[in-house]
Amino acid sequence: MTAGYNKPVLVLNADYQPLSWYPLSVVSWKDAVKSFFMGRAHIAASYDLTLHSPSFEMDMPSVIVLNEYIKPQKRPAFNRVNLYLRDMFECQYCGKEGNIPGIRKGGALTLDHVIPKCVGGGRGYKNMVASCSPCNTKKGGRTPKQAGLKLLSKPHHPTVRELWKNSRIIDPTGRFPEQWVPYLNIEEPED
Ligand SMILES: [Zn+2]
Repeated sequence: MTAGYNKPVLVLNADYQPLSWYPLSVVSWKDAVKSFFMGRAHIAASYDLTLHSPSFEMDMPSVIVLNEYIKPQKRPAFNRVNLYLRDMFECQYCGKEGNIPGIRKGGALTLDHVIPKCVGGGRGYKNMVASCSPCNTKKGGRTPKQAGLKLLSKPHHPTVRELWKNSRIIDPTGRFPEQWVPYLNIEEPED
């Protein structure tokens, strides 16, 4: 088999939607070819590259589609980056733009417990928001009301679709292989 290629292959569910929107579901071309030969997926688009082996030749897949529908995961895992992305990397008390590594310079963000930990506020999407340091300091161990702060949005558990949408707003220039573009409902990248 041809070595040295290292291109990601987009995995679509049987309904032609990405198996996961955020992060996007991708596999290596080797796993894509394996899925194809095992009858688990078919090839929707290919790169302009040919894979050679002693017994066959085929174009390198760029998009594969699962033959059987898999119930997609709707709820993203809880972590700092996903939470900041839900909040568009902005302080949810004053709206100040926070730093996004590699994309935008801004103030450092912190994770704030809306209902403070000391009075039983839990960890997770429902009780945590992105906050700039000054707002977090001002708030201290108090509720927003006690501290005279107002939340700009209600903390909620985001969907993967929402995080994908936000990631496109934050970084609209993010590039994908042109073969993926028709399946992601995004503008074709311009060179
Ligand atoms: Zn703030």
